[in-house]
Amino acid sequence: MYIELKNINKSFGDFQASKDVNFAIEKGKLVGLLGPSGSGKTTILRMLAGLEHQDSGDICINGNVVNDLPSSQRGIGFVFQNYALFPYLTVYDNIAYGLKIQKKDKKFIKQRVTELLDLVGLPGLEKRYPDQLSGGQRQRIALARALAPNPEVLLLDEPFAAIDAKVRQELRTWLRETIDKIGITSIFVTHDQDEAIEVADEIIITNEGRVEQMGDPVEIYLHPKTPFVAQFIGKSSIIEEYGKLKGFDSIGPDTRAIIRPEFVEIKSPKDVTEQSSIYEQAAVEQSIFRGNYFEVLLNIKGITIRTNSPLVNGPLKSGDKVWVVINQMYVFDDKTTTTLT
Ligand code: ATP
Repeated sequence: MYIELKNINKSFGDFQASKDVNFAIEKGKLVGLLGPSGSGKTTILRMLAGLEHQDSGDICINGNVVNDLPSSQRGIGFVFQNYALFPYLTVYDNIAYGLKIQKKDKKFIKQRVTELLDLVGLPGLEKRYPDQLSGGQRQRIALARALAPNPEVLLLDEPFAAIDAKVRQELRTWLRETIDKIGITSIFVTHDQDEAIEVADEIIITNEGRVEQMGDPVEIYLHPKTPFVAQFIGKSSIIEEYGKLKGFDSIGPDTRAIIRPEFVEIKSPKDVTEQSSIYEQAAVEQSIFRGNYFEVLLNIKGITIRTNSPLVNGPLKSGDKVWVVINQMYVFDDKTTTTLT
């Protein structure tokens, strides 16, 4: 494994921001650290970069324990969300910054800056200042600057958080392609599940300072190991009394279940008869038009479940009666997660 965190703990005063954090990352992977605000993502990144020191545990990069290595000697490039570029330096000088510190000669620096501007798709912008660039361009330049000294590891802290939705989408694809080109081991922090699922080879889910689960996006989505992961990913509904629901009534209503929107199908009345053993009658509590579908909150026997209804089902409004079938759910007890179908 190329990067390893072993039993890492970190407190700020009384507050424990990292609780026994363990994970390992293979060389060349792009890994997303995903979790709600305050769950300890940035703290993990900062400890890896050597900007913060863990209270206990080991950080290894390429087989070496780097606990006592200063940030500048860890071979890490860092891209931050906001204050990424020096505002008073040109694009050229921003990218050249780390290389000048390394005392590289002028010819080498010029060649490297040109190469990096090509890599990030912005050739010819050497003389601009950061305030003459769009948000997306700034983050591309920030990446060029982080990559200039040829780091072994790239860390990105919510790199696109301040950028509007459309450009952000383009930047995600671009980041994936650029990192693939250079094959650098990278970790990025995000609280946006779509971003993590779309971009990352593997996702680490953090919650209250702990790692809840690590796995590839498909595994995390289809096989959540904890209620937190099941609920955090995929707009799920948490159900206390799932034993009330048809098809699940023999199981016993004692534990919690989680139902994803896509586990629920809405049927038109003509497809269903009153006697049907699998369909439930539901009332629409709320229906939100999302452009190419309706996001719908349904009430089934007092239980509220979120689902999506395709436009072909027609518009739905509060109070409408519909028929639904629930195809699947995740059920949790203290230790295990079971998928019921
Ligand atoms: P966000 O998505 O909001 O950036 P995060 O998951 O990255 O959150 P961290 O920034 O790692 O979370 O912070 C975790 C917790 O540690 C937060 O409650 C934060 O207030 C606390 N914390 C972080 N750095 C410090 C510090 N230097 N001093 C005191 N508390 C801190």
